[in-house]
Amino acid sequence: MTPVWVALPHDVAVDNRLIRAGAQTQRRNRWGTRGTPVFSLSPSVARPLSRGRLCLSGAHPDAPPRIEPNLLADSDDVATLAAGVRLIDRIAATAPFARHVARRLTPNFDLDDTAALHRFVRDDASICYHASGTCQMGMDSGSVVDPQLRVRGVDALRVADASVMPTIPSGNLNAPTIMIAERAADFIRATH
Ligand SMILES: Cc1cc2nc3c(=O)[nH]c(=O)nc-3n(C[C@H](O)[C@H](O)[C@H](O)COP(=O)(O)OP(=O)(O)OC[C@H]3O[C@@H](n4cnc5c(N)ncnc54)[C@H](O)[C@@H]3O)c2cc1C
Repeated sequence: MTPVWVALPHDVAVDNRLIRAGAQTQRRNRWGTRGTPVFSLSPSVARPLSRGRLCLSGAHPDAPPRIEPNLLADSDDVATLAAGVRLIDRIAATAPFARHVARRLTPNFDLDDTAALHRFVRDDASICYHASGTCQMGMDSGSVVDPQLRVRGVDALRVADASVMPTIPSGNLNAPTIMIAERAADFIRATH
């Protein structure tokens, strides 16, 4: 079987060009190469400039929240992913990769065509699973929780999860979330 190469900007998570690699066998035959081994390299936006919003959709507590991801709203995020795709193309042309590459499946056009590449990024990019920062911790009155994780304006309520992160981390969220929980336990122990 002939190995082929696929480059997809498939998630938006963290600072400039974090490259993730994976191997797979195609199941859905998207490119007409069923059963052919393929691999993919995907750039991520490690420090996105676009900002989404999480809002109440109504006063009823059971009403679902309104989630506005607002992905790729900032054109610099699109440019970062486009640069990542071009970087991947150059990496795939280096000797260790090139001998395994039969052809690039997607994007299947000249990567010097910036407009087409930006369209490709907008059409194909997808989100990763690292939501954070919807309930920002900070010193100012606009922040939802203070540095001891207490919700401003509400007595005896703290938030201890990924939502309090004041900036979007470029690494994975599980460990820092556990650290936030440990800090919350210390704060509560010190208070009671
Ligand atoms: C598919 C996937 C893969 C991931 N992979 C990684 C990884 O490899 N490494 C990494 O570092 N991070 C990873 N993450 C991110 C990480 O898991 C999350 O960022 C982290 O778990 C966030 O912690 P949290 O406490 O903020 O929220 P959560 O872990 O979502 O915890 C929220 C908790 O609240 C509970 N809850 C919700 N509603 C209520 C309610 N009304 N009453 C009581 N309880 C309620 C939920 O049951 C849940 O237990 C991944 C996330 C996903 C979705």
